[in-house]
Amino acid sequence: MKKINCPCGFEAKTHTADELVKITQLHVQEVHKQDHPQGLPREQILQMITDA
Ligand SMILES: [Zn+2]
Repeated sequence: MKKINCPCGFEAKTHTADELVKITQLHVQEVHKQDHPQGLPREQILQMITDA
């Protein structure tokens, strides 16, 4: 399993990093639009992912 922890407290766990990237991009769009109006690049999200 892969997981990601957002500094805001949001946490997600999935089987593949691909899924996690999608979920995180949606999360950023919904919750962190002000900080990241363009969203986060895939590479940056991949760096935030750890094994769970
Ligand atoms: Zn967040």
